[in-house]
Amino acid sequence: MKGLELNSVQLSEQAEQLRQEVRLFLQKELEEGNFEPHCDSWLSKADPEFSRKLGEKGWLGMTWPKQYGGSERSALERYVVTEELLAFGAPVAAHWFADRQSGPLLLKYGTEEQRKKILPGIVRGEIYFAIGLSEPNTGSDLASISTTAKKVDGGWLLNGSKVWTSGAHYSHYMVTLCRTAAKTDKKHDGLSQLLVDLSADGVTIRPIRLMTGEHHFNEVILEDVFIPDDMAIGNIGDGWKQSMAELAYERSGPERFLSTFPLFTELIRVLQQRPSSETANIAIGQLVARLTTLREMSLGVAGLLEQGVTPEITAALVKDLGTHFESQIGEVARLLVSAGDSVSSIYKSMLATAILHSPGYTLRGGTTEILRGIIAKGVGIR
Ligand SMILES: Cc1cc2nc3c(=O)[nH]c(=O)nc-3n(C[C@H](O)[C@H](O)[C@H](O)COP(=O)(O)OP(=O)(O)OC[C@H]3O[C@@H](n4cnc5c(N)ncnc54)[C@H](O)[C@@H]3O)c2cc1C
Repeated sequence: MKGLELNSVQLSEQAEQLRQEVRLFLQKELEEGNFEPHCDSWLSKADPEFSRKLGEKGWLGMTWPKQYGGSERSALERYVVTEELLAFGAPVAAHWFADRQSGPLLLKYGTEEQRKKILPGIVRGEIYFAIGLSEPNTGSDLASISTTAKKVDGGWLLNGSKVWTSGAHYSHYMVTLCRTAAKTDKKHDGLSQLLVDLSADGVTIRPIRLMTGEHHFNEVILEDVFIPDDMAIGNIGDGWKQSMAELAYERSGPERFLSTFPLFTELIRVLQQRPSSETANIAIGQLVARLTTLREMSLGVAGLLEQGVTPEITAALVKDLGTHFESQIGEVARLLVSAGDSVSSIYKSMLATAILHSPGYTLRGGTTEILRGIIAKGVGIR
């Protein structure tokens, strides 16, 4: 069916060699006590020093042109690095959005000046980005945002507020979707993307704590923030089109099914130390089968991205299936080995994170209902 074609992707020998290199590096970092594996680490465990180490290795901005510090490697090689970092539960949140979507956004729509100023810092693991889409009264229906920028001499005056802004408290910039022209019956028109320097006057960042007590989210208040003309991204008025292109990067990566993978491997380790149980064997077998299928699909999406295709519908499908799988790992683990049993503190902490973070898996990056709407439309049943 059109829009749902996925071919099996074979990783090159070079990519598999790279995987070994990444594994050795991560194993060494673990042995030296430089990080503790965590579930959902791509969103909630930021460690600038670790990001800088990845930068030194050449594992950030991997596919970008050399002139901006990138390594011009393939999207599938980047996929392999990402997969290993997630599987190890490494602390990658600081640079995650910058590497995954803001850098590619600037490569596609940014000015030469913006690229030269920002991209090398992302590649070094020193410049971090936040995503300013959601607002207190706007989530899924993104076109109804009310953050507004008014044209003034030499730039724009930005007012409004963003919410659920992951990592804004340690980020340097926020890509901010705002209204630059009055709303008409064509609600996607008149939106633009501005690059907000989060240290600018008029920006206030307030924490919104998770139920675990962690500080991950923020509310970002924008009061008369001056944005110079040269900080507009792409064309004024093209914000909707540009944001949707950005969401394709956001929805298609392995982080959409591997957030709780560290718990899965820890669960297997715990079960291996216990007498064999048929219930456990069946449950683990089912999870492995689902994981294998999801990985094939996700790799298929990565393969299409490599060919320059934006597989919107398949990416939505993989994210929908993948994020439910992430929650399922927590549920299965809880039923097989509860935190009350005599188990390691690492298992207990991973189980707690996997379960307490689980309401967010299917919300972030587009909710299940929104994704299913995209899929239904794409296959012509809506
Ligand atoms: C962990 C996490 C990190 C996040 N990080 C960021 C970030 O960094 N930057 C950012 O901008 N946002 C971020 N978000 C916000 C996220 O993008 C929104 O939560 C999401 O888009 C949904 O918006 P909402 O919360 O306003 O819910 P709503 O849009 O109000 O939706 C509420 C419910 O109604 C359903 N619904 C809404 N519209 C429809 C419809 N048309 N048809 C059927 N059902 C519908 C939804 O599926 C959902 O179940 C993050 C969220 C989470 C959980």
